[in-house]
Amino acid sequence: MSPGEAGIAILTKGGVHAGLEGVRCVVARTIWIFGDQLSLDHPGLRAGPRTGDRLLFIESRKRGARLRYHRHKLVLIYAAMRHFAAVRRAEGWAVDYHELAETEDFEGGWRRHLAAGRPEEIVMCAPNNRFEHAAVEALARKLGLPVRFLPAVNFLVPREEFAAWAKGSKRLLMENHYRRVRRELGVLVDDRGEPEGGAWNFDAENRKPFKDFAAGATPPAPPRGSTDAVTRAVIADVTRFFPDAPGDAETFWLPVTRAEALGWLEDFVGRRLGNFGDFQDVMAAGERTMFHSLLSPMMNIGLLQPRECVDAAVEAYRAGRAPLAATEGFVRQILGWREFVNGVYWLKGEDYLASNGLGAERALPAFFYDGRTDMNCVRECVEQVRATSYNHHIQRLMVLGNFLLLAGVRPQEALRWFTEMYVDAHEWVMAANVLGMALHADGGFMATKPYAGGGAYISRMSDYCRGCRFDPAKKSGPGACPFNLLYWNFYDRHGDRFARNPRTAMMVRSWRSRPEAERARIVAEAEGFLGELGDGR
Ligand code: FAD
Ligand code: SF4
Repeated sequence: MSPGEAGIAILTKGGVHAGLEGVRCVVARTIWIFGDQLSLDHPGLRAGPRTGDRLLFIESRKRGARLRYHRHKLVLIYAAMRHFAAVRRAEGWAVDYHELAETEDFEGGWRRHLAAGRPEEIVMCAPNNRFEHAAVEALARKLGLPVRFLPAVNFLVPREEFAAWAKGSKRLLMENHYRRVRRELGVLVDDRGEPEGGAWNFDAENRKPFKDFAAGATPPAPPRGSTDAVTRAVIADVTRFFPDAPGDAETFWLPVTRAEALGWLEDFVGRRLGNFGDFQDVMAAGERTMFHSLLSPMMNIGLLQPRECVDAAVEAYRAGRAPLAATEGFVRQILGWREFVNGVYWLKGEDYLASNGLGAERALPAFFYDGRTDMNCVRECVEQVRATSYNHHIQRLMVLGNFLLLAGVRPQEALRWFTEMYVDAHEWVMAANVLGMALHADGGFMATKPYAGGGAYISRMSDYCRGCRFDPAKKSGPGACPFNLLYWNFYDRHGDRFARNPRTAMMVRSWRSRPEAERARIVAEAEGFLGELGDGR
């Protein structure tokens, strides 16, 4: 499944290189590397340094301010870029690096680069996000740059291959994609292509409730990335150039080099993988990371390859250091979900980002930015992401995403918030996760039923309700958990749609079978609650 090295597109402006006047010499090739393409698997880097090649890195202040990104995300990307460039320089590559302080935007960086010599060819890996692809094409046209795109990095399933597999399907099942990829790559399958342990999925053994966790499991503290002089300089730059961004750059905690990232992978496999499956869905107050891997920030910018993460887990299982259920659960997240959401992003096109299948029109409440809410579960998760730029999957899906779904918040506002706040957020991964999985805004293309849950789910999977002024067991009246009110209000609003879906029909029947007066009371209380939500920032 590894993509070939064939170029995808060449852009020139009729042979006229507008904007290249005054160049002094001709060099062979510029390899332009984006901050999420810091991969040793980069096809332009594999052969090693070549005379005439220059690596180009541009830190664009305009790109960094496209949204109000959390400062940890900005530090991660710029610090990883600077370290990556320094290692390449030490390997003998000619490196042209433009830091934030000197570069307003990509065009400015390019003009400075061109002033030192005109490349005969410019290559870069195809950007991982559509808007970046379009921006490169527009810049190439404007400056007459002969850009050739190489295959994208950071994925195991090329976009074109996923599209060929999905062709003609009205609805895609992640499970089918996952089994195909496991067979294709020979991961946890036997010679006949059958799954190891006799099953593709060990979810029944995974995903234990909070009470099992409270009975004695202790998650190890996450490692902390080192902050050397390079990272400290980035922290200062980010604080200076992005004064309105959320988060405190000084508390940055993630690895920014390949060597450190490999250490984090080893730490996960050695200390947390064993419990990963069991407590994958548990949330505990004050426990930021539980037994999750914390590898997405590094995988999404190329410091770790998805395949090596999968292989490290499978190796631990083979050596008897991790159970099959936990290993399969982890492999499923990467070969299954990660590759799937990227495939869906490229398959669905620009319109997907505008999807709003449930007609949700409420503004994002202000407490998503300031954490000021009485709902303890929401407050815990928002406070955590404000401090660390990270929540684990169930916090994102079943607390924050669930609230946004039930409250009917506009999907594009939710998407913006997730993109701004999370250290691992990139458009390719957010689109299907936020719009499809969490908000069911894509009409059910990604998920056969909405991930909607009431207070009982959060109470079973966490200890958040203990510190809350609401009662998860209370369905209405004073002190009733807002998730309960909003849950039934959701099925009231969308009853006709979900009555037709076999996976939700029972919920709608259960709601509609209640006395009318009870339904009217719950709807009125839910609407009263929604009416009091603050509006945006
Ligand atoms: P683990 O739980 O340890 O999982 C292992 C790896 O599997 C992750 O590192 C990640 O690479 C991959 N993975 C697991 N689930 C998914 C998924 N649904 N989609 C893609 N990859 C997955 N993931 C991001 O990388 N960036 C995001 O901005 C992001 N936003 C999300 C927003 C919402 C509303 C939801 C529901 C999910 C989102 N996810 C996102 C997916 C998932 O929550 C994160 O990948 C995961 O929480 C990252 O933490 P981890 O590395 O500790 O993951
Ligand atoms: Fe969240 Fe409801 Fe539990 Fe409070 S009672 S923490 S609002 S689920």
